Amino acid sequence: MSDEIGVAVLGLGNVGSEVVRIIEESAADLTARIGAPLVIRGIGVRRVDADRGVPVELLTDDIEALVSRDDVDIVVELMGPVEPARKAILAALEQGKSVVTANKALMAVSAGKLAEAAEKAHVDLYFEAAVAGAIPVIRPLTQSLAGDTVLRVAGIVNGTTNYILSEMDSTGADYASALADASALGYAEADPTADVEGWDAAAKAAILASIAFHTRVTADDVYREGITKVSAADFASARALGCTIKLLAICERLTTGKGKQQVSARVYPALVPLEHPLASVNGAFNAVVVEAEAAGRLMFYGQGAGGAPTASAVLGDLVMAARNRVQGGRGPRESKYAKLPVAPIGVIPTRYYVNMNVADRPGVLSAVSAEFSKREVSIAEVRQEGMVDDEGQRCGARIVVVTHQAKDAALSETVAALADLDVVQSINSVLRMEGTSE
Ligand code: NAP
Repeated sequence: MSDEIGVAVLGLGNVGSEVVRIIEESAADLTARIGAPLVIRGIGVRRVDADRGVPVELLTDDIEALVSRDDVDIVVELMGPVEPARKAILAALEQGKSVVTANKALMAVSAGKLAEAAEKAHVDLYFEAAVAGAIPVIRPLTQSLAGDTVLRVAGIVNGTTNYILSEMDSTGADYASALADASALGYAEADPTADVEGWDAAAKAAILASIAFHTRVTADDVYREGITKVSAADFASARALGCTIKLLAICERLTTGKGKQQVSARVYPALVPLEHPLASVNGAFNAVVVEAEAAGRLMFYGQGAGGAPTASAVLGDLVMAARNRVQGGRGPRESKYAKLPVAPIGVIPTRYYVNMNVADRPGVLSAVSAEFSKREVSIAEVRQEGMVDDEGQRCGARIVVVTHQAKDAALSETVAALADLDVVQSINSVLRMEGTSE
């Protein structure tokens, strides 16, 4: 049995308190698995109170001093925002400590700098919990698929938005009341912006794309749209088309006409056919579908958030980092050799669903379809229904157009041109369609 492995835990919130609990409660098993006991040297918090369920002498608000202690081998960062986490992690790495973090916001913007520091110090930097909580997806991508070529990673990686969209689908609720429900049940934060505007999913997409394609992709490289404009009418139309609507994070390897490889990372709400595996992922659950050249399609499903599920992923990383310490080595280093360029959204082949109100008179459909054909966008399906006003008088028609695949730029130009047509009263919504390749 080796010497103790000293651990500093930064943060004692939802995740940190579960990590500390499991370290204490499973001490004997963890010792056997690692080959040395894990000993918590200190816990970094803002409020050092006696009443926090851990021995008060472990608590400190001096993060800098805690990570610098000679008897700390591994720092587990579970504080949250980019700062002060970045400063603490960099200090830890520079002093030769391995680091485990669940901080997606930080990893999506600073992974390069942190990985460099880990490389220099020859220590581990693990972040399985930063994407999809309990679901193992980072390690399968970095290790299990290390010999394969990943083509696509697409997933539902934000539980809050998946809960809201699932509610809208199953109850017919509009966005505002589904959000209110999610808040009341604790699935949405007081300020839900990072979730509903897709920022959280974009951070995870950046991390997934970086790993899957051996290329540095940051949050700024990710095209992003949130779910705030998705309406109950969109769900009704989606149902009629045999689809539901999901907020997807999509990372893809693309080959241009000239045979050059590029990567795409994007987040948006999309129509997904009901038979697609992601369509049945409901509530706060997450799922990630990976497609690799030799392995084919793999699906990972489970709890994407919550104290205990996230702590499971953190503990997995902590045990790996501790084992590496005991054996005197480190895990696989970051792989960014491919350096593929990130493709702009305009070149991405996709399908659109366009929902618009039009005048109810002859020639409208041909004017609308002319705008699609001018830009070589082929229409797959058109649905039209008449509308009546409060007095029961006909007042126009609602048209839903679903396209075949075309470049995103051609599709968005078409929508802009439609909005300028006299016969189009309003463009109600525009969503992409995923999970079909026609
Ligand atoms: P949380 O409940 O808000 O807890 C944050 C903890 O960090 C608190 O204990 C807080 O101290 C401490 N802290 C914050 N700023 C600090 C500072 N400047 N100095 C010292 N301590 C500080 O957060 P959480 O939900 O556990 O999330 C932690 C991390 O895990 C975040 O990066 C999050 O994105 C990630 N994550 C969370 C989940 C989840 O389901 N919660 C899932 C995946 C990833 P006080 O207690 O004294 O306020």
